[in-house]
Amino acid sequence: QHLTASRPRNPFGEGTLTQIYAVASGKGGVGKSTITANLAVGLAERGLAVGLIDADIHGFSIPGLLGITAKPTKVEDLIMPPVAYGVKVMSIGMFLDSDQPVAWRGPMLHRALEQFVTDVYWGDLDVLLIDLPPGTGDIAISTSQLLPTAQLLVITTPEHTAAQVAARAGQLSTQTNQPVTGVIENMGPMRLPDGSIVEVFGSGGGQAVSQRLTQVLGKDVPLLGSIPLDPVLRADSEVGTPTVVTSADAPAGQALNTIVDQL
Ligand code: ADP
Repeated sequence: QHLTASRPRNPFGEGTLTQIYAVASGKGGVGKSTITANLAVGLAERGLAVGLIDADIHGFSIPGLLGITAKPTKVEDLIMPPVAYGVKVMSIGMFLDSDQPVAWRGPMLHRALEQFVTDVYWGDLDVLLIDLPPGTGDIAISTSQLLPTAQLLVITTPEHTAAQVAARAGQLSTQTNQPVTGVIENMGPMRLPDGSIVEVFGSGGGQAVSQRLTQVLGKDVPLLGSIPLDPVLRADSEVGTPTVVTSADAPAGQALNTIVDQL
């Protein structure tokens, strides 16, 4: 037994009972982190034990989105994650000054993610969400190795070009053997108070990615919902309150809750 003691055990390896969702996007700025934070809080609101790993190491934003200023604490050799809105959260941002850039290379990124998985006291989680960096780089591959049962959620905007890139990110799952749970469209058509609909980023991207991945993977990859462009979501993110609970009646809050109910 002492032979294995020196190697930290991965509580989220093969055979884990925790449902793991890695949230992916083709490019940055599509709202991936905002949605991941809100889905985590929404699931915790429903009584589940939820953890969230901010694996967007170069572009970490989860602490700000959930208003976390607390640092992780150490108890013996375990790291205790801060808790916000019922969600246990780990982010590299908690170890840095917020204006300090992260310039790490692949092996260091892998090691950081590995530590988040094995050295943090997560307890028994029902759900673990991973906010992946945009695209199909090192971390996406490390995630598939460290969290072999993770399923992907793919975020896209309604734009045609964005949808093509998002579909590519989803297709990486054929190489990593990860199932794709579904597609979430963000920054979708918004309804103005006079009832008219404004499509700032066009429409149809979520449907297009869903169809494309269904075709390529040979398995139904549903569109779980479209979150409209909504100034409430942007303002909530800025002050670090999750729309899914603090503005549940706003259009984006309603759409987010509908998606949480499907997970
Ligand atoms: P990513 O993680 O994909 O880089 P972010 O989650 O950081 O994207 O979101 C980018 C910006 O867009 C943030 O300022 C966020 O508040 C804003 N945003 C995201 N989704 C919406 C939306 N549905 N309506 C309005 N603003 C949004």
